[in-house]
Amino acid sequence: MRFDLISIFPEFFAGPLSYGILRRARETSLVEVNVQDLRVFTKDRHRTVDDRPFGGGEGMVLKPEPLFEAVESLLGTTAGEASNPGAASPKTAIVLMSAAGKLFRQETARRYAQLERIIFICGRYEGVDERVAEHLATEEISIGDFVLSGGELPAMMVVDAVTRLLPGALGNEASSQNESFSVVDNPGPDTSQQSRVTSQILLDFPHYTRPAEYRGWPVPEVLIGGNHAEVAKWRRAASIEKTRRNRPDLLL
Ligand code: SAH
Repeated sequence: MRFDLISIFPEFFAGPLSYGILRRARETSLVEVNVQDLRVFTKDRHRTVDDRPFGGGEGMVLKPEPLFEAVESLLGTTAGEASNPGAASPKTAIVLMSAAGKLFRQETARRYAQLERIIFICGRYEGVDERVAEHLATEEISIGDFVLSGGELPAMMVVDAVTRLLPGALGNEASSQNESFSVVDNPGPDTSQQSRVTSQILLDFPHYTRPAEYRGWPVPEVLIGGNHAEVAKWRRAASIEKTRRNRPDLLL
């Protein structure tokens, strides 16, 4: 998997890329990360990437030319080709980070993990000329209902979420299968109805480690007993309870 990050702050990514799973995935060439300085694609002496918005108003907007040229240069296409989404390989996504985008979810991460390449466009200021969303990006993605000051952190969050889903990225292969937001089969309460199996998205179950009692708070008895079937039952119930408490919207 290759990630390209287009940004006016190329040094921004050094920290997040240097630790833990992401670091290891890069060292083992499971992922390749390329940071592209947007200013390379400016032509004026001041290396201008932004301009005032048509129609007036506060703030500045990232100009289209450097962004189109950056993506075209990364794809090795000539002008115009990258703006035809069909021209890019179906295994490549061009993702514009945007508070006004579609919500990024674990299912989005699972879809991205099937791709070969993702090019991220990180906005700044008031955002990006809309023609980038309309004619360059294949997707416009938000990481949540809040506004940040740039697309760099959001892009890194997507890189992280996707990388840990790649086979071999986690030490323990099973660990990305039983996490929050993974889809579990729900047999349904009434098994007499013929195979009413629905899929459900639940949060992770609570985890405990030693000591078995801390400040008078004991670990649930069943987890210490060693009965695997009982543990599985408890975890599933605890998962549902936690989802009901923290994210009732997932159970609708
Ligand atoms: N005026 C815009 C916000 C611009 S914030 C609006 O009201 O929607 C500047 C940049 O930060 C954006 O171009 C985008 O790249 C990034 N950004 C901010 N919030 C984000 C979010 N929730 N998800 C993804 N990117 C975000």
